[in-house]
Amino acid sequence: MTDAASLARRVRDGDLRLHELEDHVDHDTAATARRLVLEAETDADLEAIGSYGFDAEAAESAIENMVGAAQIPMGVAGPVSVDGGAASGEYYLPLATTEGALLASVNRGLSVLEDAGGVDARVTKHGMTRAPVFRVSGVVEAAETVEWVEDNGERLREAAEETTSHGEVIGVEPYVVGDSVFLRFAYDTKDAMGMNMATIATEAACAVVEEETPASLVALSGNLCSDKKPAAINAIEGRGRSVTADVVIPGELLEERLHTTASAIVEANTRKNLIGSAKAGSLGFNAHAANVVAAVFLATGQDEAQVVEAANAITTMDARERGATTDLYASVSLASLEVGTVGGGTKLPTQAQALDIVGVRGGGDPAGSNADALAEVIAAGALAGELSLLAALASNHLASAHEDLGR
Ligand code: NAP
Repeated sequence: MTDAASLARRVRDGDLRLHELEDHVDHDTAATARRLVLEAETDADLEAIGSYGFDAEAAESAIENMVGAAQIPMGVAGPVSVDGGAASGEYYLPLATTEGALLASVNRGLSVLEDAGGVDARVTKHGMTRAPVFRVSGVVEAAETVEWVEDNGERLREAAEETTSHGEVIGVEPYVVGDSVFLRFAYDTKDAMGMNMATIATEAACAVVEEETPASLVALSGNLCSDKKPAAINAIEGRGRSVTADVVIPGELLEERLHTTASAIVEANTRKNLIGSAKAGSLGFNAHAANVVAAVFLATGQDEAQVVEAANAITTMDARERGATTDLYASVSLASLEVGTVGGGTKLPTQAQALDIVGVRGGGDPAGSNADALAEVIAAGALAGELSLLAALASNHLASAHEDLGR
């Protein structure tokens, strides 16, 4: 029988390579052998990395050369009532982070949102995108290709949708730059984040474009998609899901619970999130939506690199008169939130359990409703984070909150 120590010896002797270990032993033993190699070669103690609570085989589609797990503390905020297009009822929000004070801040915000009667949230647009780039000889062939694509949407749809039983083509938008033609395909990917689904479907459609037009495919992703890069196109056109959460908070509640007023929060939002962000040339006009998005992504098995665009949000705050009182209208709009409740990292045990906390593990009924609900709950969490931080700024106790909770 092959044990981890003898495998590690064979790797160190050059007889086996690190990525070949699963060919000889089970996944857990392979991970142990890799740790032994690393411990011998780097003097690092990897006991903590090796203390993971899942079957390594379950992570096979998520990781290569596995040595263990990076464990991130997970907390929970809420509950908060969300009245969404898909979400309905009370939700707890699982957040994985190492940032002290984040959970407390989001929890405080959610509690005020709850006391204000809960959050309204809606996914207003779907469209996971993949934009291949083609080479043509010049603008004449580019125009010919664009015309063919515009006249043959149905053929492209058929080719793409043949590769998936869930995905649906929403549209194909052509862009021409000199002798390059980009076709930005948008899909409703239902409960999947959909990047693999969209890539496979687009590849099939590209074969038809190459058959019928002078265009030659150069890259299946031409970066106009735009995946995992900060890009205005995602902020404007949306990607994945565009989702908004909003609330009206009574002035009395602001004073009682947040020790501030609507007008003080509105001023902080305008000067910081709007004017400051504009001056900085920022794509996001928010205080820290990325904190909530990233923490939920880590907890629930989303693709963490997509936080780049998923946290692209605009926060608005307005004062609304009600008799002698001034209430606060607060909203967060996330233009390109890419989330799924099936596929990718959502299958891993802790991530699947975190999706259970939200009540959205797996495929929804109808398909797409679980991922819509997750998007709406994340938007409610982002709104809570924005409210809490802006209120802290407005009431000048941000520094002391960090001193108390972060250290
Ligand atoms: P996936 O794990 O590749 O596949 C999800 C599949 O689940 C769908 O294609 C669908 O199969 C099936 N499915 C079952 N029930 C479904 C439901 N209710 N709604 C939707 N689909 C359902 O996941 P993915 O979301 O397409 O891609 C996510 C992965 O892509 C992540 O691991 C991420 O890291 C990776 N990624 C890839 C790229 C890339 O360029 N390829 C870029 C970024 C990230 P059918 O299609 O057969 O219906």
